[in-house]
Amino acid sequence: MKGSLFVVSAPSGAGKTSLVAKLIEKDPAIVVSISSTTRDKRPGEENGVNYHFLSVDEFQQRIEQGDFLEHAQVFDNFYGTSKSSVEKQLGAGKDVILEIDWQGAQQVRKLMPETISIFILPPSKQELRRRLTGRGTDSEEIIERRMADAESEMSHYAEFDYIVINNNFDIALEELNSIFKAQRLTQQRQYSSHKNLIHGLFEN
Ligand code: 5GP
Repeated sequence: MKGSLFVVSAPSGAGKTSLVAKLIEKDPAIVVSISSTTRDKRPGEENGVNYHFLSVDEFQQRIEQGDFLEHAQVFDNFYGTSKSSVEKQLGAGKDVILEIDWQGAQQVRKLMPETISIFILPPSKQELRRRLTGRGTDSEEIIERRMADAESEMSHYAEFDYIVINNNFDIALEELNSIFKAQRLTQQRQYSSHKNLIHGLFEN
């Protein structure tokens, strides 16, 4: 049985990356797709682990070759999801998470309408500002820009199937986990995993 495809989107500061990292640590049947990007590597990031870091020319070439399931310009950089890698993981029965923005989510929904999409929200504007302020070394202008970007991403929340509010991390993690668990209990997936059991119930 093929795995299910999930999209997880959120504004920066909602805690998406930490929640997804913890979720997959607990459940080996879930994997996160590694995106390609043209943005610079941040300290601590590794090529092939956090992202595949590409030049703009390389990225353009991948688009022309039709390698991406979806791709978008997010702020000043390009980001894309490898089609072949996602198909391979789904085929191996893994549930695959795409951590992508709202533009990518729209493209994936169109191509694969069975995709389950989840949006993570912060508990309040004040808390979001606190999280985006970081260590307090950024200028007011940078913080305002981050808030505006976050608001623009959040304005798409209604396009998603599920909303998780990340006020308390452990509760948000449990809620996220329950969405993945429920998806494995659909009639279709249960039938495929327990065919013999179900047929046995109707034998004389
Ligand atoms: P960051 O550069 O901070 O890692 O990510 C910036 C934004 O790009 C986030 O909103 C993230 O979800 C989005 N993003 C990361 N990878 C992809 C991708 O493959 N496709 C799309 N459409 N967005 C992505």
